[in-house]
Order: sequence, then structure tokens, then C-alpha cells
Amino acid sequence: MLVGSISKISGPVIVARNLAGSKMYDMVSVGDEELRGEIIRLDGDEAVVQLYEDSTGLTVGDRVSNSEMPLSIELGPGLISSIYDGIQRPLPMLYVKSGDFISRGISVPGLDRQKKWEFKAAAKAGDTVAAGDVIGTVQEFHIEHRVMVPPGVSGTIKEIRSGYFTVEDTVCTMGDGREIKLIQRWPVRKGRPYKKKLDSSLPLITGQRVFDLMFPVTKGGTAMIPGGFGTGKTVSEQTLAKWSDARIIVYIGCGERGNEMTDVLTEFPELVDPRTKLPLIQRTIMIANTSNMPVAAREASIYTGITMAEYFRDMGYDVALMADSTSRWGEALREVSGRLEEMPGEEGYPAYLPARLAAFYERAGRTMCLGSDSRIGSVTVVGAVSPPGGDFSEPITQNTLRIVGTFWALDTSLAYRRHFPSVNWIKSYSLYLDAVQDWYRNSVSPEWRDLRNKTMYLLQKEVELQEIVQLVGPDALPEGEKAILEVTRMLREDFLQQSAYSDTDSFCPLEKQFWMLKAIISFHEHAARAIDRGVSLKQIMGLPLKSEIGRMKDLQDVAKIKGIIQDVEKNISALEVEK
Ligand code: ADP
Ligand code: MG
Repeated sequence: MLVGSISKISGPVIVARNLAGSKMYDMVSVGDEELRGEIIRLDGDEAVVQLYEDSTGLTVGDRVSNSEMPLSIELGPGLISSIYDGIQRPLPMLYVKSGDFISRGISVPGLDRQKKWEFKAAAKAGDTVAAGDVIGTVQEFHIEHRVMVPPGVSGTIKEIRSGYFTVEDTVCTMGDGREIKLIQRWPVRKGRPYKKKLDSSLPLITGQRVFDLMFPVTKGGTAMIPGGFGTGKTVSEQTLAKWSDARIIVYIGCGERGNEMTDVLTEFPELVDPRTKLPLIQRTIMIANTSNMPVAAREASIYTGITMAEYFRDMGYDVALMADSTSRWGEALREVSGRLEEMPGEEGYPAYLPARLAAFYERAGRTMCLGSDSRIGSVTVVGAVSPPGGDFSEPITQNTLRIVGTFWALDTSLAYRRHFPSVNWIKSYSLYLDAVQDWYRNSVSPEWRDLRNKTMYLLQKEVELQEIVQLVGPDALPEGEKAILEVTRMLREDFLQQSAYSDTDSFCPLEKQFWMLKAIISFHEHAARAIDRGVSLKQIMGLPLKSEIGRMKDLQDVAKIKGIIQDVEKNISALEVEK
């Protein structure tokens, strides 16, 4: 092992000498407490290390040992429902060991060493297997944990056994003597291999109307949620973690307040998946690197999370990863870069910021997995971005914008008016509309795209009309345009707004979403036609339709929403007849 000593300490960054022979991103352990860190620059026999733990108490001369291995995590049964810090130490266990939420230098393995799992072999002695082939399964809650031949291993199986095993027991021995266990290790900075990337035409269904019907993201796609303080980034990320139709969720709390993470940790175990009726925690992995934890570990938490997501993707599952907030990771990069006295780029961020962000989002995607059975998996990435002062022109927002396919722009003035989710429908966009169109046509309705276009047209028209109203007052508008303003109010209040705290509306099934939108657009079309035929807007608004539409959110039965559409047709047409 290479052993050097500290020559300089600067916050989370230390310089160590006598480490000739080290490689970039080698993991080191520092001082008597064996604090963990990673080499981020090499200069002769000097290594610059970013520490994943608080450096208080370290002094010049303390020992720095290089493990000569990159930062790696443990993959295997036991990940699901776990809560980890940025370097995969289980938080509850740490808490038990140290009596504190965070502690230093404590080494607890990511996967339980004692627990025995029932392994069911799916291959037999004599089989020829290659990387990615499933040699057996372990049932982890309702997820079939597929035990795969690790990347780089192939050959003939000499021996394989079903039975109860700990993660470190050998379940399979290859002809060349290599042993396969339930545990695998993977260096987090490196994307896990796959056969090829595929286009994705499947939307990630989130149960949120403004996301699903207006600005969808694909399974395997990327989305960002930028927004100023209090606009609802955290609530949105949590809502997505709760209700998205992915098989596995990885939730990374990166550099945000600890109490928010505590909320998630207390709330999640209680929640039930509306589709499967199973506890949501049984498909979720949480990584908490909160603002009181060391800055450099924010970067580790991002890579740890995406590596876990890829691992389940490789089994052939749809995984969704939420990172709140990628800005805190960017700020950590800035701080470390500043201490390294690197040439600063825009606003003090390092020049490699755009490349780091791109490399992270690049690990999303829908892929043909390694292995002979043509499994397809996906990783969807949704990153929150916290621009200071809500100003989207700053570097992290701008650089992320160039990478992602869906842009959910949260808006301070909407949040102020308590319009939630505060997604600005004029600024937001999705580049996946064409990609998901066929899926919507077959699984929801052939009318989806047309309804969406009409909705966007009306909402854009509203902006224009409001400007006129500001100048000359509402009376100057013709009846048909006044009707548009009534309809856009319905669109905003009765469709786009969706409270994360409502028992009946926090999750809205896709079919219901469609009929809700259809009801409002039908109202518009019937009202517009009646007005053309001389009916007054006042007469139309005198009908009880507005309040019926306002009640749709709380209706669980789609047939009742269809009933409202019939009422719209019947009652507005009746006014035409009366004329
Ligand atoms: P941010 O993370 O952007 O600072 P939060 O996600 O903490 O903001 O949201 C701030 C507050 O806004 C929440 O405490 C909640 O009251 C409100 N809020 C945000 N999104 C929603 C939503 N979808 N439904 C209801 N309230 C919301
Ligand atoms: Mg937040």
C-alpha cells in the first residue's frame, strides 16, 4: 500500500506527499480516524485529496494511505429500502453506532454481512455464460433481484447452488476458478456497461397533470426542475419519487436541509403505491448528503446514486433517479476548485462544470442490457436546480438546459400566488412530445396531442389577452375572448394546479387526467360555438358547469367526469336552442 503524509490542509481539501505511483480518483484513508477521501489531482509525489468527511482535527504529518482502488460501492441484495450517506454508509446503522446523524471515520459496509438471502439458481453447471447473464434470483420485497454475471467475467459454470447465502458467500464458481457472489463492486465514476442505447418512446407516468399531459419525460429521458427558493423543487422531486411508475426509485438529497430529508425518511415508510398497493419504500433507495455533511461527499452522493440506478437498469428495470439539488453539487465543485486554485470559469465555477453535468445526465437512457436475454432497462434522471435568486441565466441552469430533454421551469410568482406545482407553462418544454405520441395514442387517447395543442394555444392566448385587459380593461374584449379567459382560469385552477398534499388529488391516474382536460376543452369548444350563435357568456357562466368542472379533481370515478362532459354538451346546446 502507498502511504504518505499530510503536507497541507485547506477545508475539505488536503495535500499529501510521498504518494508517487498514485492514480487519479484513488480512494485514500486519512489520519487515525481513517477518514475517507479521493485523489483529485496528482503532481509529482504530491496528491491532492478531497475528503468525504469533516477534516477537523487533522494535522500536518498525519498518515494518508492509498487503497489504490477507485471509490466503489457495493451492489447486491439489501440496497432496496436502505438509506445511505454519500459514500454508501447506511444512515440508521451509523446512527446506532455513533449516536449522531453523521459521524466520521466509521466504516460500516453498504450491504449487511449477516443477513442470508434465498438464492434461486437459474443456470446450471456446464452452462456457458457471459457478463450480464442472469444466473439466479433473490426475492427482495416484490422486486426480483437478478443476480448477474459481473462485467468482465465469462466462461463455463463449474458449480452453482440454490440456498440461503450471505452477500459474501460464493453462489457460483466458474471454470477458471472465479467466484460469483451476491455482492458486486463498481467504481462510481464509471458508467456501467450495456449493449446499446435505445430510443425511448415510453413516458414516465408521474400522476402529475402538468408533467404527464403537458411536458412529459420519457423512461430513460432527462428532466430538470429549476426554481428559486420555495418554488417547490423539493416537493416536486418527492412527488415524483412517490408516484412515478418506475420499478425502482433512487432519491438523492444532495446538500439540502437535513430536516427535509428527515421528512422523507419519516413519510416514505407509510406510503402505499397506488398502482401495486405495496409500500413505496420497498422500491426506493435513499441517499442523504445534507447541508451539514461534508461538501465533497455531495459529488460522491450523485455518483453513488446513479451507479445504483444503473445496476437495477442492468437487471431490466425502469429506474427513476431524483437529485435535489444538483446546484449544491456544482457549488461543492466550485469550492473544491477554488481551494485547488484552478483557473475559474463562469461565476467561479470550474471550467469542467459543463462536462461534469453532461457526463452525469449521459448516464440516463433506455438500454439493451448486457446478457443473452435481451433485457431492456432504463434510467430516468430528474435533477433539481437551485439558481440563486431564481435567475435562470446562471451557469448551472444554463449548462443543464443544454443537456436535458424536459424543462420544468418553476416560477416564483406562481408559487407566491400558491399556484402549485408552480410550473410555468410558457417557459417549460418537453422535447419528447413526438417520441411519446404513439404511446399516448394507443394507451390514452388518439386525441391527446390535439388536446394538448389546444390547451397550449389557449394558455398562450391568455397572456396576450391579459395584456389587453391591463391596458383597456376587460369590457373591451369581445365575448369569445372573454370566454377564453374563463376557460384558461379553469385550465389553471382545475387542471394545472395539483396539490401534493391532497388525499384525492396528489396522484391523478392518466385516464382521469385526460378526461379532466377533455372536459375543459369541450367546455371551451361548446361555449365558443354557442357564442358564435348569439348566446351570451353570462348565460353560459350561469350554468352550474363551472362548479362541476371545479369538482373534478376530487372525483375518483372517471365515469362522473365523462358525465360532466355530457352535461357540458347538453346544457350549452340547450342555450342555443332557446335562442
Ligand atoms: P424549494 O425546494 O423549491 O425551495 P419546496 O419544495 O420546499 O421549495 O416548496 C416550498 C413550499 O411550497 C412547500 O412547503 C409547500 O407549501 C409549497 N408547495 C410546493 N409544491 C407544492 C405542491 N405541488 N402542492 C402543494 N404545495 C406545494
Ligand atoms: Mg428544496
